[in-house]
Amino acid sequence: MRSDLKHYINGEWIESTGSETTEVINPATEEIIGRISLGTEADLDKAVQAARAAFPSFSQTTKQYRIELLEKIADEYAKRKDDLIKVITEELGAPLSLSEKVHYSMGYHHFKQAAEELKNFSFIEKRDKSTIMKQTIGVSGLITPWNFPTNQTSTKIASAFAAGSPVVLKPAEVTPYAAMMLADIFEAAGLPKGAFNLVNGSGEVVGNAISSHPDIDFVSFTGSGAVGQKVMENAAKTIKKVALELGGKSPLVVLEDADINKAAKTAVSHISMNTGQVCTAATRILVPNAIKKQFEEAVKENLADFPVGDPQKENVSGPLVSQKQWDTVQGYIEKGMNEATLLVGGTGKPDGLDKGYFTKQTVFTDVKNDMVIAQEEIFGPVMSIITYDTIDEAIEIANDTVYGLAGYVVGEDPETLQKVAASIQAGQITVNNAKTDYSAPFGGFKQSGIGREWGDFGIEEYLEPKAVMGMPS
Ligand code: NAP
Ligand code: MG
Repeated sequence: MRSDLKHYINGEWIESTGSETTEVINPATEEIIGRISLGTEADLDKAVQAARAAFPSFSQTTKQYRIELLEKIADEYAKRKDDLIKVITEELGAPLSLSEKVHYSMGYHHFKQAAEELKNFSFIEKRDKSTIMKQTIGVSGLITPWNFPTNQTSTKIASAFAAGSPVVLKPAEVTPYAAMMLADIFEAAGLPKGAFNLVNGSGEVVGNAISSHPDIDFVSFTGSGAVGQKVMENAAKTIKKVALELGGKSPLVVLEDADINKAAKTAVSHISMNTGQVCTAATRILVPNAIKKQFEEAVKENLADFPVGDPQKENVSGPLVSQKQWDTVQGYIEKGMNEATLLVGGTGKPDGLDKGYFTKQTVFTDVKNDMVIAQEEIFGPVMSIITYDTIDEAIEIANDTVYGLAGYVVGEDPETLQKVAASIQAGQITVNNAKTDYSAPFGGFKQSGIGREWGDFGIEEYLEPKAVMGMPS
């Protein structure tokens, strides 16, 4: 059993000033895998002071130094590949292959990409009448959720380090261990003391202390909309800049000329991947009325290729992360059964999986966009099939949501693909399952958030532009 009751502050693992702890549970077995400290405001304050002390020198490091640092971090991260995969599967319940190909890999790419971006990044720009300097914003506070333990931490940290900003991180209580491994990785890469600090604990105490702390200049938060609002309210008291990466209810628009089997496979992958616990998951599948029946059949067939099961096995979809998440998802499935037609799945646990937070992959059809299951983010393996007759109607339905994180379109006709991609009000559109671009901005329109992560846009968040007029040359 892991026991790491310490926080990482100023380059050292140190005891918590409090005595409260919490258990970390393996969601596939419900066994306790470890215990962490629930940090206090005093712990968080120590971390902030360490970051402040590191700021003058870290923010003045050269671009070349930061490129080499990020490359060294990527190398050290790669050396810990097996341990990272193991720990993500243990704490999150992600199948081993997903922990490797998605979770491990995304973290690695963010560090590599930040180094690449810096090579062409200009921290100073000369204009006709002024010189624009992009200067480090200050100390950054990072608050992350449990669904992508290495992706969300790494994208924030890589951008912060690229910009020369020391950070204080509070990872999610339910998945702390992959984040804690980052401290050792940074130490091995030679990161200066105080540039990375990690305080474990609850959102109510440590997260709240981050968004309120007067010596934190910028808060980057990923999580739910409700907590995002609290972060903004707290940050307002000291006019702190905030970046929020929140939820989504993303549409997948299936065009009439799409290959039905491929489109169904895409739809299924969105509820299977990470057990649907993905902020960008397509959960509203917009299908032309003319092909509804064939599409439903194809979804059923494709679901059989991703059974729910033990994440130590190949080609499975794992459990949900926690009992709390299981209860939430069950509640939505019950609601769906009252308002729409159940095509596959339903409430309860899949056969033979009594231990662990496993839930049935569930598909509803005849869903109307104003139903609860079409409007609220479920964050589990639940698909809603909604039909449309014209492309304009599909676009209207796609945008009839408070969210705007992602959108997807599959089909053949280039003009229609372009029209749909341009019309969905969301920060990231994927046409025909195109690959991820780590240099492209990631973030939401509408209530899906404020600000952008990834690539050069991500680095800009940790910088303040300064205009200097009359700079002698
Ligand atoms: P959450 O409850 O909002 O928690 C996110 C983080 O905020 C956790 O570290 C949490 O601490 C902390 N927190 C809780 N209360 C806080 C407070 N009052 N002040 C400051 N921090 C606080 O979200 P979740 O349940 O972990 O994750 C699921 C949600 O995140 C979904 O809505 C999903 O869409 C969203 N999400 C969005 C993205 C994106 O990039 N847009 C990515 C992933 C997830 P604890 O450890 O104590 O919970
Ligand atoms: Mg939570």
